[in-house]
Amino acid sequence: MRSGLIAACMMTAVSKTANIYLMSEPYLHLDPETARRIRLLMADVDGTLNTGGGQVSPAVRGAVRRLQENGITVGLVSGRTSPMLEEMALDLDIRGPLIAENGAIARMSVQSGHMDLGYSRQPALDALDRLKACYPGRISEREDNAHRLVDIVFRADGLKMDEIKSCAGDVQVLDSTYILHLMQQGIDKGKTLRRLLGLMDGKIKPSEVLVIGDSMTDLSMFKLFPLAVLVPNPDIPAEDARTLRQAARYISGHQAGDGFVEVALHIIRSRG
Ligand SMILES: [Mg+2]
Repeated sequence: MRSGLIAACMMTAVSKTANIYLMSEPYLHLDPETARRIRLLMADVDGTLNTGGGQVSPAVRGAVRRLQENGITVGLVSGRTSPMLEEMALDLDIRGPLIAENGAIARMSVQSGHMDLGYSRQPALDALDRLKACYPGRISEREDNAHRLVDIVFRADGLKMDEIKSCAGDVQVLDSTYILHLMQQGIDKGKTLRRLLGLMDGKIKPSEVLVIGDSMTDLSMFKLFPLAVLVPNPDIPAEDARTLRQAARYISGHQAGDGFVEVALHIIRSRG
């Protein structure tokens, strides 16, 4: 009995200690062998390639070009609409998959059509109606909802996440730190990326993909892909930031586009 208790205490101590080491490591720990294994890099956009909503810097543009010259296909995985990602992919000559609306919409490349992932907008529309009824005058939709197929983006004036979730019902409520999203349960960036990989030429393995993002909308990718890089975002609540640091393998030193660039250049240098 006593030895069982001691063993249980030791297990707790070990798991607490292990938790410390499960926090993400500096990106410089990504070694040459790992860097040479990467075939696809999937990047979130807002807070990862830019500071949110704006254009990418010349340095980000150069890093994307150099990654692709070095044999790493770059793709985008974002809460943005598909037309927005298409415009960005054409501008940056991005050749990889485009995953829009936080995983609800996907295409293999800017040249290919959208895939039928079987998702519906109805749960999000119903949740939006419920929120408007719960909080009259405090829920505002964003203009680009007209271009969204599954996801709904909105602002909730002065409302806490708990208040929103308690009224929204059986639907996902996501906070990208820039805008709130309503979406059918079961949709996420990580799962959609896994579905695409199985269909790609050459069958890229999850261990050959590096994912990089900054917010809770990227958590599903951090959990499903071993090579996950967190770009720290100072606007993320402390508890969410801790969750992200526990899920991502690596963390960049700088924020937003500067963080992406330093990671990209380290990978290119490490590949030799
Ligand atoms: Mg982001």
